[in-house]
Amino acid sequence: MPETRQRGASFLRIRRRYLYLGAMAFAGAMTCLPTLPASAEVVHAEQVVPGQALSVARLVDEPEVERASYAITYFSVVQSPVSPSARLGKPFSGGHQGYDFLPGANTPVLAIADGVVTAVDEASGSLGVHVEIQHVIDGEVVTSTYSHLATGSMTLALGQEVARGTQVGLVGSTGASTGPHLHFQILNSAGTPVNPLTWLNAHVNI
Ligand SMILES: [Zn+2]
Repeated sequence: MPETRQRGASFLRIRRRYLYLGAMAFAGAMTCLPTLPASAEVVHAEQVVPGQALSVARLVDEPEVERASYAITYFSVVQSPVSPSARLGKPFSGGHQGYDFLPGANTPVLAIADGVVTAVDEASGSLGVHVEIQHVIDGEVVTSTYSHLATGSMTLALGQEVARGTQVGLVGSTGASTGPHLHFQILNSAGTPVNPLTWLNAHVNI
């Protein structure tokens, strides 16, 4: 009887050990399951976009200087016509097809991007002294206009090529204006005015 009990006890110990190992293996399998989805290959294939892999490899291979100039080119296509922190006036709406910026009288107004001057007006009409510049931005022809400029501050000529940041004129109050401000307008490729503030926020990388 004692022998039998002993054997029985050791048999139970062995069974317990197998049970324990089995439980551990099961727990391990459960732990691993979420990290080994059946669709792992599909996810991987989606993540590897050939163009991405190429551009990363090229960036790594390029010398430091070229990478820096590439970054400057990419991030500086468009800038705000005045300081982005300038006070805002009347917003864009159906009856007001531009956005008013209030940076103060005689503040320099700058071309938002490289382009060609397509209109200059020394003072007639409600827009007063104003300039229109056409650009190609992200493959789209976009026109920016800068209105109510100070008398005599506009020095650009029709057809002149301008670089981003070129001074267009100074903030004034010519035309239908009750105080010095920049009426800034953006026309899309269809010639339709779009909200200039929304457009700037989407295109200017500060
Ligand atoms: Zn306005």
